Amino acid sequence: MPLIVQKFGGTSVADSEKILGAARKAIRAQQQGNQVVMVVSAMGKNTDMLIGLANEISERPPAREMDMLLSTGEQVSVALMAMAIHALGSQAVSLTGAQIGIKTDDTHTKARIKSISTERMQQLLDEGNIVIAAGFQGITDHFDITTLGRGGSDTTAVALAAVLGADACEIYTDVDGVYSTDPRVLPEARCVDQISYDEMLELASLGAGVMHNRSIEFAKKYQVPIHVRSSLSDAPGSMIIVEPESVERPVCGAAVTEKEALVSVLDVPDRPGVSLEIFSRVANRNVTVDMIVQNVGEDGKADISFTVPRDEIGITLEAVQEAIQQLDAGRITHDDNVSKVSVVGLGMAKQAGVAETMFAALGRENVNIQMITTSEIKISVLVERDSALPALRAVHKAFDLETAPPAAKATGSSSLVHAEADAADVVARLQGVDMEELVLDDISLDESQGRVTISGVPDIPGVAAKVFHEIAEANIFVDMIVQNRDSHEEHASLSFTVPREKVDDSVVVAGRLAEQFSCTGVSSCPNIAKLSVSGVGLRSHTSVAIRMFRALADIGVNVAMINTSEVRVNVIVDGDKGERALESLKAVFADVLR
Ligand code: ADP
Ligand code: ASP
Ligand code: MG
Repeated sequence: MPLIVQKFGGTSVADSEKILGAARKAIRAQQQGNQVVMVVSAMGKNTDMLIGLANEISERPPAREMDMLLSTGEQVSVALMAMAIHALGSQAVSLTGAQIGIKTDDTHTKARIKSISTERMQQLLDEGNIVIAAGFQGITDHFDITTLGRGGSDTTAVALAAVLGADACEIYTDVDGVYSTDPRVLPEARCVDQISYDEMLELASLGAGVMHNRSIEFAKKYQVPIHVRSSLSDAPGSMIIVEPESVERPVCGAAVTEKEALVSVLDVPDRPGVSLEIFSRVANRNVTVDMIVQNVGEDGKADISFTVPRDEIGITLEAVQEAIQQLDAGRITHDDNVSKVSVVGLGMAKQAGVAETMFAALGRENVNIQMITTSEIKISVLVERDSALPALRAVHKAFDLETAPPAAKATGSSSLVHAEADAADVVARLQGVDMEELVLDDISLDESQGRVTISGVPDIPGVAAKVFHEIAEANIFVDMIVQNRDSHEEHASLSFTVPREKVDDSVVVAGRLAEQFSCTGVSSCPNIAKLSVSGVGLRSHTSVAIRMFRALADIGVNVAMINTSEVRVNVIVDGDKGERALESLKAVFADVLR
Protein backbone atom coordinates (compact mmCIF):
# COMPACT_ATOMS: atom_id res chain seq x y z
CA MET A 1 0.00 0.00 0.00
CA PRO A 2 1.37 3.49 -0.80
CA LEU A 3 2.67 5.43 2.18
CA ILE A 4 2.42 9.17 2.53
CA VAL A 5 3.97 11.57 5.06
CA GLN A 6 2.05 14.78 5.71
CA LYS A 7 3.62 17.50 7.82
CA PHE A 8 1.59 20.33 9.34
CA GLY A 9 3.43 23.45 10.54
CA GLY A 10 2.53 25.63 13.51
CA THR A 11 0.00 27.90 11.81
CA SER A 12 -1.67 24.86 10.25
CA VAL A 13 -2.48 23.47 13.72
CA ALA A 14 -2.88 26.82 15.52
CA ASP A 15 -6.37 26.12 16.92
CA SER A 16 -8.84 23.27 17.29
CA GLU A 17 -10.55 24.06 14.01
CA LYS A 18 -7.28 23.90 12.12
CA ILE A 19 -6.34 20.68 13.90
CA LEU A 20 -9.64 19.16 12.78
CA GLY A 21 -8.98 20.44 9.24
CA ALA A 22 -5.57 18.76 9.18
CA ALA A 23 -7.08 15.57 10.61
CA ARG A 24 -9.62 15.52 7.76
CA LYS A 25 -6.84 15.81 5.18
CA ALA A 26 -5.06 12.82 6.70
CA ILE A 27 -8.23 10.75 6.89
CA ARG A 28 -9.01 11.57 3.26
CA ALA A 29 -5.55 10.41 2.20
CA GLN A 30 -6.06 7.19 4.15
CA GLN A 31 -9.46 6.62 2.58
CA GLN A 32 -7.84 7.04 -0.82
CA GLY A 33 -5.79 3.94 -0.07
CA ASN A 34 -2.65 5.29 1.57
CA GLN A 35 -0.97 4.55 4.84
CA VAL A 36 -0.54 7.95 6.49
CA VAL A 37 2.10 9.32 8.85
CA MET A 38 1.46 12.85 10.08
CA VAL A 39 4.25 15.00 11.47
CA VAL A 40 3.02 17.87 13.57
CA SER A 41 4.62 21.08 14.88
CA ALA A 42 3.80 22.95 18.06
CA MET A 43 0.58 24.97 17.85
CA GLY A 44 0.90 28.51 16.50
CA LYS A 45 3.59 30.48 18.27
CA ASN A 46 3.84 28.03 21.15
CA THR A 47 7.58 27.43 20.71
CA ASP A 48 8.25 31.20 20.76
CA MET A 49 6.12 31.51 23.86
CA LEU A 50 8.10 28.77 25.63
CA ILE A 51 11.40 30.41 24.65
CA GLY A 52 10.06 33.70 26.01
CA LEU A 53 9.24 32.04 29.34
CA ALA A 54 12.68 30.49 29.58
CA ASN A 55 14.31 33.85 28.90
CA GLU A 56 12.26 35.45 31.67
CA ILE A 57 13.89 33.00 34.05
CA SER A 58 17.41 32.94 32.70
CA GLU A 59 19.51 34.79 30.12
CA ARG A 60 21.21 31.59 29.08
CA PRO A 61 19.10 28.60 30.04
CA PRO A 62 20.89 25.23 29.95
CA ALA A 63 20.43 23.70 26.51
CA ARG A 64 19.31 20.35 27.93
CA GLU A 65 16.49 21.99 29.87
CA MET A 66 15.57 24.09 26.83
CA ASP A 67 14.99 20.86 24.90
CA MET A 68 12.97 19.41 27.75
CA LEU A 69 10.79 22.52 27.61
CA LEU A 70 10.45 23.01 23.86
CA SER A 71 9.61 19.39 23.12
CA THR A 72 6.39 19.82 25.10
CA GLY A 73 4.95 22.04 22.34
CA GLU A 74 4.86 19.17 19.84
CA GLN A 75 3.62 16.74 22.49
CA VAL A 76 0.52 18.87 22.94
CA SER A 77 -0.18 18.94 19.20
CA VAL A 78 0.20 15.22 18.56
CA ALA A 79 -2.17 14.32 21.38
CA LEU A 80 -4.80 16.79 20.17
CA MET A 81 -4.38 15.58 16.58
CA ALA A 82 -4.92 11.96 17.64
CA MET A 83 -8.04 13.02 19.54
CA ALA A 84 -9.28 14.88 16.46
CA ILE A 85 -8.89 11.80 14.29
CA HIS A 86 -10.70 9.65 16.85
CA ALA A 87 -13.47 12.23 17.05
CA LEU A 88 -13.84 12.03 13.26
CA GLY A 89 -14.23 8.27 13.48
CA SER A 90 -10.80 6.99 12.44
CA GLN A 91 -7.96 5.36 14.31
CA ALA A 92 -4.78 7.17 15.26
CA VAL A 93 -1.87 6.85 17.66
CA SER A 94 0.38 9.74 18.66
CA LEU A 95 4.09 9.19 19.30
CA THR A 96 6.87 11.41 20.68
CA GLY A 97 10.32 11.35 19.11
CA ALA A 98 11.49 9.00 21.85
CA GLN A 99 8.57 6.62 21.35
CA ILE A 100 9.32 6.38 17.65
CA GLY A 101 12.99 5.86 18.36
CA ILE A 102 14.42 8.95 16.68
CA LYS A 103 17.97 8.70 18.01
CA THR A 104 20.07 11.84 17.87
CA ASP A 105 23.48 13.02 18.99
CA ASP A 106 23.60 15.09 22.17
CA THR A 107 24.00 18.57 20.64
CA HIS A 108 21.06 19.99 22.56
CA THR A 109 18.89 22.51 20.65
CA LYS A 110 20.61 21.59 17.35
CA ALA A 111 20.74 17.79 17.52
CA ARG A 112 21.38 15.67 14.46
CA ILE A 113 19.46 12.50 13.72
CA LYS A 114 21.51 9.32 13.91
CA SER A 115 18.88 6.67 13.32
CA ILE A 116 15.14 6.04 13.30
CA SER A 117 13.36 2.79 14.08
CA THR A 118 10.50 1.96 11.80
CA GLU A 119 9.02 -1.18 13.41
CA ARG A 120 6.55 0.45 15.75
CA MET A 121 5.31 2.94 13.16
CA GLN A 122 5.01 0.22 10.55
CA GLN A 123 3.08 -2.04 12.89
CA LEU A 124 0.66 0.73 13.84
CA LEU A 125 0.15 1.59 10.18
CA ASP A 126 -0.46 -2.05 9.29
CA GLU A 127 -3.12 -2.15 12.01
CA GLY A 128 -4.96 0.67 10.24
CA ASN A 129 -3.84 3.61 12.35
CA ILE A 130 -2.81 7.03 11.22
CA VAL A 131 0.53 7.55 12.98
CA ILE A 132 1.02 11.01 14.40
CA ALA A 133 4.66 11.83 15.01
CA ALA A 134 5.88 14.76 17.06
CA GLY A 135 8.14 16.87 14.89
CA PHE A 136 11.39 18.55 15.89
CA GLN A 137 12.44 16.12 18.64
CA GLY A 138 14.49 13.04 19.34
CA ILE A 139 16.32 11.25 22.10
CA THR A 140 19.98 10.57 22.87
CA ASP A 141 21.51 7.23 23.74
CA HIS A 142 21.18 8.35 27.38
CA PHE A 143 17.44 9.02 27.03
CA ASP A 144 17.76 12.80 27.14
CA ILE A 145 15.24 14.65 25.00
CA THR A 146 16.75 16.70 22.19
CA THR A 147 15.40 19.11 19.57
CA LEU A 148 16.63 19.55 16.02
CA GLY A 149 16.78 23.35 15.74
CA ARG A 150 14.08 25.90 14.93
CA GLY A 151 11.89 24.75 12.08
CA GLY A 152 13.08 21.18 12.63
CA SER A 153 9.72 19.49 12.09
CA ASP A 154 10.39 19.63 8.36
CA THR A 155 13.50 17.57 8.99
CA THR A 156 11.52 15.02 11.01
CA ALA A 157 9.04 14.72 8.15
CA VAL A 158 11.61 14.22 5.41
CA ALA A 159 13.65 11.84 7.56
CA LEU A 160 10.56 9.72 8.26
CA ALA A 161 9.67 9.76 4.57
CA ALA A 162 13.20 8.52 3.81
CA VAL A 163 13.30 5.65 6.32
CA LEU A 164 9.77 4.53 5.58
CA GLY A 165 10.38 4.66 1.82
CA ALA A 166 7.33 6.93 1.52
CA ASP A 167 5.76 7.57 -1.86
CA ALA A 168 5.10 11.21 -1.02
CA CYS A 169 6.21 13.81 1.49
CA GLU A 170 3.78 16.71 1.71
CA ILE A 171 4.67 19.82 3.71
CA TYR A 172 1.51 21.75 4.56
CA THR A 173 2.19 25.34 5.52
CA ASP A 174 0.66 28.83 5.55
CA VAL A 175 1.76 29.88 2.05
CA ASP A 176 0.96 28.30 -1.32
CA GLY A 177 4.42 26.83 -1.86
CA VAL A 178 8.02 27.90 -2.30
CA TYR A 179 8.26 31.47 -3.57
CA SER A 180 11.04 33.33 -5.36
CA THR A 181 11.47 35.15 -2.06
CA ASP A 182 9.49 35.43 1.18
CA PRO A 183 6.02 36.54 -0.04
CA ARG A 184 5.37 38.28 3.27
CA VAL A 185 8.37 40.50 2.65
CA LEU A 186 7.86 41.07 -1.09
CA PRO A 187 4.26 40.68 -2.24
CA GLU A 188 5.41 40.47 -5.87
CA ALA A 189 7.23 37.18 -5.15
CA ARG A 190 6.16 34.26 -7.37
CA CYS A 191 5.23 30.76 -6.25
CA VAL A 192 7.50 28.41 -8.22
CA ASP A 193 6.33 25.14 -9.76
CA GLN A 194 9.52 23.38 -8.86
CA ILE A 195 12.96 24.03 -7.47
CA SER A 196 16.06 21.86 -7.24
CA TYR A 197 17.40 20.44 -3.98
CA ASP A 198 20.64 22.40 -4.31
CA GLU A 199 18.85 25.70 -4.83
CA MET A 200 16.39 25.10 -1.99
CA LEU A 201 19.23 24.05 0.29
CA GLU A 202 21.06 27.33 -0.31
CA LEU A 203 17.92 29.45 -0.06
CA ALA A 204 16.83 27.73 3.14
CA SER A 205 20.12 28.37 4.83
CA LEU A 206 20.27 31.95 3.53
CA GLY A 207 16.96 32.93 5.11
CA ALA A 208 14.08 31.30 3.21
CA GLY A 209 12.36 29.99 6.33
CA VAL A 210 9.76 27.98 4.45
CA MET A 211 11.85 24.81 4.80
CA HIS A 212 14.37 23.79 7.46
CA ASN A 213 17.68 23.55 5.61
CA ARG A 214 18.59 20.16 7.05
CA SER A 215 15.35 18.70 5.73
CA ILE A 216 16.64 19.43 2.24
CA GLU A 217 19.96 17.74 3.01
CA PHE A 218 17.96 14.61 3.81
CA ALA A 219 15.80 14.97 0.75
CA LYS A 220 18.81 15.30 -1.50
CA LYS A 221 20.76 12.51 0.13
CA TYR A 222 17.89 10.03 0.10
CA GLN A 223 16.10 11.42 -2.98
CA VAL A 224 12.81 12.22 -1.34
CA PRO A 225 10.63 14.44 -3.55
CA ILE A 226 8.96 17.11 -1.41
CA HIS A 227 5.65 18.76 -2.16
CA VAL A 228 5.23 22.10 -0.36
CA ARG A 229 1.62 23.30 -0.31
CA SER A 230 -0.93 25.32 1.58
CA SER A 231 -3.01 23.82 4.37
CA LEU A 232 -5.59 26.52 3.75
CA SER A 233 -6.09 26.46 -0.03
CA ASP A 234 -6.06 23.95 -2.86
CA ALA A 235 -3.27 25.70 -4.76
CA PRO A 236 -1.03 23.17 -6.53
CA GLY A 237 2.10 24.03 -4.55
CA SER A 238 5.77 23.52 -5.40
CA MET A 239 7.90 20.43 -5.89
CA ILE A 240 11.44 20.21 -4.51
CA ILE A 241 13.25 17.67 -6.66
CA VAL A 242 16.52 17.13 -8.51
CA GLU A 243 15.84 19.39 -11.50
CA PRO A 244 15.53 23.18 -11.39
CA GLU A 245 12.48 24.94 -12.81
CA SER A 246 14.51 26.49 -15.60
CA VAL A 247 18.00 25.72 -16.81
CA GLU A 248 18.26 29.04 -18.64
CA ARG A 249 17.53 31.39 -15.80
CA PRO A 250 20.66 32.33 -13.85
CA VAL A 251 18.74 32.97 -10.62
CA CYS A 252 15.70 31.17 -9.18
CA GLY A 253 15.29 32.94 -5.88
CA ALA A 254 16.50 35.60 -3.47
CA ALA A 255 16.66 35.61 0.30
CA VAL A 256 17.53 37.91 3.11
CA THR A 257 18.91 37.18 6.54
CA GLU A 258 18.02 40.34 8.32
CA LYS A 259 19.66 39.65 11.63
CA GLU A 260 23.24 39.03 10.76
CA ALA A 261 26.37 40.21 12.54
CA LEU A 262 29.78 40.97 11.10
CA VAL A 263 32.90 40.14 13.08
CA SER A 264 36.32 41.37 11.96
CA VAL A 265 39.57 40.21 13.45
CA LEU A 266 42.17 42.78 12.46
CA ASP A 267 45.95 42.74 12.34
CA VAL A 268 46.49 39.05 12.89
CA PRO A 269 49.68 37.43 11.56
CA ASP A 270 49.33 36.28 7.95
CA ARG A 271 50.47 32.70 8.39
CA PRO A 272 49.04 29.20 8.22
CA GLY A 273 47.01 28.19 11.23
CA VAL A 274 45.60 31.58 12.15
CA SER A 275 42.20 31.00 10.56
CA LEU A 276 42.14 27.61 12.20
CA GLU A 277 42.79 29.16 15.61
CA ILE A 278 39.80 31.45 15.17
CA PHE A 279 37.27 29.27 13.39
CA SER A 280 37.85 26.09 15.36
CA ARG A 281 36.90 27.96 18.52
CA VAL A 282 33.77 29.36 16.91
CA ALA A 283 32.82 25.95 15.51
CA ASN A 284 33.34 24.32 18.89
CA ARG A 285 30.46 26.47 20.09
CA ASN A 286 28.36 25.18 17.22
CA VAL A 287 28.00 28.54 15.54
CA THR A 288 27.64 28.39 11.76
CA VAL A 289 29.90 30.95 10.18
CA ASP A 290 28.90 32.29 6.81
CA MET A 291 30.62 34.88 4.61
CA ILE A 292 34.33 34.51 5.36
CA VAL A 293 36.76 36.90 3.75
CA GLN A 294 40.37 37.58 4.37
CA ASN A 295 42.52 40.51 3.28
CA VAL A 296 46.22 40.43 3.28
CA GLY A 297 47.32 43.81 4.55
CA GLU A 298 50.71 45.43 4.96
CA ASP A 299 53.54 44.14 7.17
CA GLY A 300 52.50 40.50 6.89
CA LYS A 301 49.30 41.24 8.80
CA ALA A 302 45.89 39.99 7.72
CA ASP A 303 42.29 40.93 8.49
CA ILE A 304 39.71 38.17 8.68
CA SER A 305 36.00 38.97 8.62
CA PHE A 306 33.00 36.70 8.78
CA THR A 307 29.31 36.79 9.53
CA VAL A 308 27.26 34.84 12.06
CA PRO A 309 23.58 34.95 13.01
CA ARG A 310 23.07 38.00 15.22
CA ASP A 311 21.69 35.89 18.05
CA GLU A 312 25.02 34.14 18.28
CA ILE A 313 27.26 37.21 18.37
CA GLY A 314 27.83 36.90 22.14
CA ILE A 315 29.32 33.42 22.10
CA THR A 316 31.15 34.18 18.86
CA LEU A 317 32.94 37.17 20.37
CA GLU A 318 33.87 35.04 23.38
CA ALA A 319 35.42 32.47 21.08
CA VAL A 320 37.32 35.05 19.02
CA GLN A 321 38.58 36.78 22.15
CA GLU A 322 40.07 33.48 23.27
CA ALA A 323 41.70 33.04 19.89
CA ILE A 324 43.42 36.43 19.84
CA GLN A 325 44.64 35.86 23.37
CA GLN A 326 46.16 32.61 22.21
CA LEU A 327 47.69 34.28 19.13
CA ASP A 328 48.81 37.20 21.26
CA ALA A 329 47.92 39.50 18.37
CA GLY A 330 44.96 41.13 16.69
CA ARG A 331 41.93 43.14 17.67
CA ILE A 332 38.22 42.59 17.16
CA THR A 333 35.50 44.83 15.78
CA HIS A 334 31.90 43.87 15.19
CA ASP A 335 28.74 45.29 13.69
CA ASP A 336 25.38 43.74 14.45
CA ASN A 337 23.37 46.13 12.34
CA VAL A 338 23.87 44.31 9.04
CA SER A 339 21.80 42.05 6.79
CA LYS A 340 22.76 39.54 4.16
CA VAL A 341 21.02 39.57 0.80
CA SER A 342 21.63 36.61 -1.51
CA VAL A 343 20.58 35.29 -4.89
CA VAL A 344 20.68 31.62 -5.76
CA GLY A 345 20.43 29.67 -9.01
CA LEU A 346 21.97 26.62 -10.64
CA GLY A 347 22.00 28.57 -13.92
CA MET A 348 24.56 31.12 -12.74
CA ALA A 349 27.33 28.52 -12.75
CA LYS A 350 27.41 28.70 -16.53
CA GLN A 351 26.60 32.34 -17.25
CA ALA A 352 28.73 35.45 -17.26
CA GLY A 353 27.54 38.79 -15.95
CA VAL A 354 25.29 37.52 -13.14
CA ALA A 355 27.24 39.28 -10.40
CA GLU A 356 27.26 42.42 -12.51
CA THR A 357 23.46 42.38 -12.78
CA MET A 358 23.13 42.08 -9.02
CA PHE A 359 25.68 44.77 -8.19
CA ALA A 360 24.25 47.14 -10.80
CA ALA A 361 20.75 46.76 -9.32
CA LEU A 362 22.15 47.58 -5.88
CA GLY A 363 24.11 50.50 -7.26
CA ARG A 364 20.96 51.98 -8.83
CA GLU A 365 19.25 51.78 -5.42
CA ASN A 366 22.24 53.47 -3.85
CA VAL A 367 22.84 50.47 -1.62
CA ASN A 368 26.38 50.30 -0.33
CA ILE A 369 27.84 46.79 -0.44
CA GLN A 370 29.96 46.10 2.62
CA MET A 371 31.05 42.60 1.77
CA ILE A 372 30.66 40.19 -1.12
CA THR A 373 31.09 36.43 -1.33
CA THR A 374 30.11 34.11 -4.11
CA SER A 375 29.99 30.41 -4.77
CA GLU A 376 29.06 28.46 -7.88
CA ILE A 377 25.34 28.90 -7.29
CA LYS A 378 24.95 31.91 -5.02
CA ILE A 379 26.04 35.49 -4.53
CA SER A 380 25.72 37.10 -1.11
CA VAL A 381 26.23 40.72 -0.16
CA LEU A 382 26.27 42.27 3.27
CA VAL A 383 24.47 45.59 3.61
CA GLU A 384 23.35 47.92 6.38
CA ARG A 385 20.11 46.62 7.89
CA ASP A 386 18.04 49.58 6.67
CA SER A 387 19.04 48.79 3.09
CA ALA A 388 18.05 45.11 3.26
CA LEU A 389 14.52 45.46 1.97
CA PRO A 390 15.27 47.88 -0.89
CA ALA A 391 18.23 45.67 -1.79
CA LEU A 392 16.08 42.53 -1.87
CA ARG A 393 13.42 44.26 -3.96
CA ALA A 394 16.01 45.58 -6.40
CA VAL A 395 17.65 42.21 -7.03
CA HIS A 396 14.31 40.40 -7.23
CA LYS A 397 13.32 42.80 -9.99
CA ALA A 398 16.69 42.73 -11.73
CA PHE A 399 16.44 38.96 -12.20
CA ASP A 400 12.76 39.08 -13.26
CA LEU A 401 11.81 36.78 -10.44
CA GLU A 402 8.19 37.91 -10.36
CA THR A 403 7.57 36.35 -13.78
CA ALA A 404 7.62 32.68 -14.71
CA PRO A 405 10.58 31.50 -16.76
CA PRO A 406 9.60 30.97 -20.42
CA ALA A 407 10.01 27.20 -20.38
CA ALA A 408 8.42 26.61 -16.98
CA LYS A 409 7.06 23.10 -16.71
CA ALA A 410 3.54 22.22 -15.65
CA THR A 411 3.10 21.80 -11.92
CA GLY A 412 3.71 18.35 -10.53
CA SER A 413 0.64 16.47 -9.39
CA SER A 414 0.07 15.75 -5.75
CA SER A 415 0.38 12.02 -6.16
CA LEU A 416 4.09 11.57 -6.24
CA VAL A 417 6.23 8.62 -6.78
CA HIS A 418 9.66 8.07 -5.39
CA ALA A 419 10.86 8.98 -8.84
CA GLU A 420 14.58 8.65 -8.76
CA ALA A 421 15.23 5.96 -6.25
CA ASP A 422 13.92 2.58 -5.53
CA ALA A 423 12.49 2.91 -2.02
CA ALA A 424 13.93 -0.41 -0.89
CA ASP A 425 17.35 0.72 -2.00
CA VAL A 426 17.08 3.95 -0.04
CA VAL A 427 15.95 2.13 3.07
CA ALA A 428 18.80 -0.35 2.68
CA ARG A 429 21.30 2.49 2.44
CA LEU A 430 19.97 3.89 5.70
CA GLN A 431 20.82 0.81 7.72
CA GLY A 432 23.83 1.15 9.97
CA VAL A 433 24.78 4.74 9.11
CA ASP A 434 24.27 7.95 10.99
CA MET A 435 21.54 9.51 8.91
CA GLU A 436 22.86 13.05 9.08
CA GLU A 437 26.53 12.12 8.96
CA LEU A 438 28.80 14.09 6.69
CA VAL A 439 29.21 12.66 3.21
CA LEU A 440 31.59 14.14 0.64
CA ASP A 441 31.37 13.26 -3.00
CA ASP A 442 34.44 14.98 -4.41
CA ILE A 443 37.70 16.71 -3.59
CA SER A 444 39.29 18.44 -6.54
CA LEU A 445 42.05 20.79 -7.64
CA ASP A 446 41.68 23.50 -10.27
CA GLU A 447 44.92 25.07 -11.48
CA SER A 448 43.44 27.04 -14.33
CA GLN A 449 42.73 30.33 -12.57
CA GLY A 450 44.50 33.44 -11.39
CA ARG A 451 43.61 36.12 -8.87
CA VAL A 452 43.25 39.89 -9.24
CA THR A 453 42.91 42.22 -6.24
CA ILE A 454 41.99 45.89 -6.21
CA SER A 455 42.81 47.45 -2.87
CA GLY A 456 41.78 50.72 -1.29
CA VAL A 457 38.44 50.72 -3.09
CA PRO A 458 36.32 53.63 -1.82
CA ASP A 459 33.35 52.33 0.13
CA ILE A 460 30.67 53.93 -2.04
CA PRO A 461 27.76 52.42 -3.99
CA GLY A 462 28.34 51.33 -7.55
CA VAL A 463 32.04 50.46 -7.65
CA ALA A 464 31.66 46.67 -7.75
CA ALA A 465 28.99 47.06 -10.42
CA LYS A 466 31.34 49.10 -12.58
CA VAL A 467 34.27 46.70 -12.11
CA PHE A 468 32.29 43.59 -13.07
CA HIS A 469 30.54 45.39 -15.88
CA GLU A 470 33.86 46.21 -17.51
CA ILE A 471 35.25 42.75 -16.83
CA ALA A 472 32.19 41.17 -18.46
CA GLU A 473 32.49 43.60 -21.40
CA ALA A 474 36.02 42.28 -21.87
CA ASN A 475 34.52 38.77 -22.12
CA ILE A 476 36.16 37.51 -18.97
CA PHE A 477 34.36 34.89 -16.90
CA VAL A 478 34.72 35.62 -13.20
CA ASP A 479 34.55 32.70 -10.79
CA MET A 480 35.05 33.64 -7.12
CA ILE A 481 34.50 37.17 -5.85
CA VAL A 482 35.22 38.44 -2.37
CA GLN A 483 35.05 41.94 -1.08
CA ASN A 484 35.93 43.05 2.38
CA ARG A 485 36.21 46.34 4.20
CA ASP A 486 39.84 46.81 5.11
CA SER A 487 41.03 47.76 8.55
CA HIS A 488 40.75 51.45 7.74
CA GLU A 489 37.04 50.83 7.30
CA GLU A 490 36.30 53.45 4.65
CA HIS A 491 38.00 51.35 2.05
CA ALA A 492 37.38 47.90 0.70
CA SER A 493 39.48 45.34 -1.02
CA LEU A 494 37.99 43.46 -3.93
CA SER A 495 39.45 40.16 -5.14
CA PHE A 496 38.27 37.88 -7.89
CA THR A 497 39.48 34.90 -9.83
CA VAL A 498 39.52 34.60 -13.62
CA PRO A 499 40.95 32.09 -16.11
CA ARG A 500 44.75 32.28 -15.90
CA GLU A 501 45.16 33.48 -19.48
CA LYS A 502 42.83 36.38 -18.71
CA VAL A 503 44.73 37.69 -15.70
CA ASP A 504 46.71 40.24 -17.72
CA ASP A 505 43.60 41.58 -19.47
CA SER A 506 41.81 41.77 -16.13
CA VAL A 507 44.68 43.71 -14.59
CA VAL A 508 44.46 46.25 -17.41
CA VAL A 509 40.72 46.72 -16.81
CA ALA A 510 41.18 46.81 -13.04
CA GLY A 511 44.06 49.30 -13.33
CA ARG A 512 41.93 51.65 -15.39
CA LEU A 513 39.10 51.54 -12.87
CA ALA A 514 41.46 51.81 -9.90
CA GLU A 515 42.67 55.07 -11.33
CA GLN A 516 39.17 56.31 -12.05
CA PHE A 517 37.97 55.57 -8.50
CA SER A 518 41.23 56.57 -6.77
CA CYS A 519 41.87 53.10 -5.37
CA THR A 520 45.25 52.36 -3.83
CA GLY A 521 46.37 49.72 -6.26
CA VAL A 522 45.96 46.53 -8.20
CA SER A 523 47.84 43.32 -7.58
CA SER A 524 47.53 39.95 -9.19
CA CYS A 525 48.75 36.41 -8.94
CA PRO A 526 48.41 34.24 -12.02
CA ASN A 527 49.54 31.18 -10.17
CA ILE A 528 46.83 30.13 -7.73
CA ALA A 529 45.29 26.77 -6.96
CA LYS A 530 41.63 26.30 -6.11
CA LEU A 531 40.75 23.32 -3.96
CA SER A 532 37.13 22.26 -3.68
CA VAL A 533 35.45 19.88 -1.31
CA SER A 534 31.88 19.02 -2.26
CA GLY A 535 29.11 17.08 -0.59
CA VAL A 536 25.85 17.68 1.20
CA GLY A 537 25.19 20.18 3.99
CA LEU A 538 28.75 21.32 4.35
CA ARG A 539 27.90 24.53 6.09
CA SER A 540 25.82 23.02 8.82
CA HIS A 541 28.63 20.54 9.41
CA THR A 542 30.83 23.28 10.83
CA SER A 543 33.70 20.84 11.01
CA VAL A 544 34.38 20.78 7.26
CA ALA A 545 36.01 24.18 6.92
CA ILE A 546 37.90 23.52 10.16
CA ARG A 547 39.25 20.20 8.95
CA MET A 548 40.33 21.92 5.73
CA PHE A 549 42.09 24.71 7.61
CA ARG A 550 43.78 22.18 9.87
CA ALA A 551 44.95 19.98 7.00
CA LEU A 552 46.38 22.98 5.17
CA ALA A 553 47.96 24.55 8.24
CA ASP A 554 49.63 21.24 9.08
CA ILE A 555 51.51 21.30 5.79
CA GLY A 556 52.24 25.03 6.00
CA VAL A 557 49.80 26.16 3.30
CA ASN A 558 48.22 29.59 3.69
CA VAL A 559 44.58 30.10 2.64
CA ALA A 560 44.26 33.25 0.51
CA MET A 561 40.54 33.16 -0.27
CA ILE A 562 37.69 30.95 0.86
CA ASN A 563 34.04 30.56 0.00
CA THR A 564 31.51 28.24 1.48
CA SER A 565 28.12 27.04 0.36
CA GLU A 566 25.87 24.20 1.39
CA VAL A 567 27.35 21.91 -1.24
CA ARG A 568 30.93 23.09 -1.58
CA VAL A 569 33.82 24.71 0.22
CA ASN A 570 36.45 26.30 -2.04
CA VAL A 571 39.81 27.62 -0.93
CA ILE A 572 42.47 29.41 -2.91
CA VAL A 573 46.08 28.68 -2.03
CA ASP A 574 49.48 29.35 -3.55
CA GLY A 575 49.74 27.83 -7.03
CA ASP A 576 52.74 25.63 -6.36
CA LYS A 577 51.16 24.14 -3.25
CA GLY A 578 48.08 22.79 -5.07
CA GLU A 579 49.08 19.13 -5.46
CA ARG A 580 50.40 18.87 -1.94
CA ALA A 581 47.24 20.46 -0.53
CA LEU A 582 45.03 18.13 -2.56
CA GLU A 583 46.81 15.06 -1.20
CA SER A 584 46.50 16.32 2.31
CA LEU A 585 42.76 17.04 1.97
CA LYS A 586 42.15 13.60 0.48
CA ALA A 587 43.89 12.03 3.44
CA VAL A 588 42.01 14.10 5.99
CA PHE A 589 38.59 13.37 4.50
CA ALA A 590 39.24 9.75 3.52
CA ASP A 591 36.68 8.50 6.05
CA VAL A 592 33.77 10.53 4.66
CA LEU A 593 34.53 10.51 0.93
CA ARG A 594 32.09 8.26 -0.92
P1 ADP B 1 5.37 26.28 9.26
O1 ADP B 1 4.92 26.65 10.61
O2 ADP B 1 4.29 25.74 8.38
O3 ADP B 1 6.59 25.40 9.27
P2 ADP B 1 7.05 28.53 8.63
O4 ADP B 1 6.67 29.83 9.25
O5 ADP B 1 8.16 27.78 9.22
O6 ADP B 1 5.74 27.64 8.56
O7 ADP B 1 7.34 28.73 7.07
C1 ADP B 1 6.43 29.38 6.25
C2 ADP B 1 6.80 30.84 6.11
O8 ADP B 1 8.06 30.92 5.44
C3 ADP B 1 5.89 31.63 5.24
O9 ADP B 1 4.83 32.16 5.98
C4 ADP B 1 6.80 32.73 4.66
O10 ADP B 1 6.61 33.96 5.30
C5 ADP B 1 8.19 32.25 4.96
N1 ADP B 1 9.07 32.22 3.79
C6 ADP B 1 10.34 32.69 3.75
N2 ADP B 1 10.87 32.53 2.55
C7 ADP B 1 9.94 31.92 1.78
C8 ADP B 1 9.93 31.46 0.44
N3 ADP B 1 10.98 31.61 -0.37
N4 ADP B 1 8.81 30.85 -0.02
C9 ADP B 1 7.74 30.68 0.79
N5 ADP B 1 7.71 31.11 2.07
C10 ADP B 1 8.78 31.72 2.57
N1 ASP C 1 8.00 24.07 16.80
C1 ASP C 1 9.35 24.18 16.30
C2 ASP C 1 9.66 25.63 15.96
O1 ASP C 1 8.81 26.48 16.08
C3 ASP C 1 9.61 23.26 15.14
C4 ASP C 1 8.82 23.55 13.89
O2 ASP C 1 7.79 24.22 13.91
O3 ASP C 1 9.23 23.07 12.83
O4 ASP C 1 10.76 25.93 15.58
MG1 MG D 1 8.64 25.76 9.46
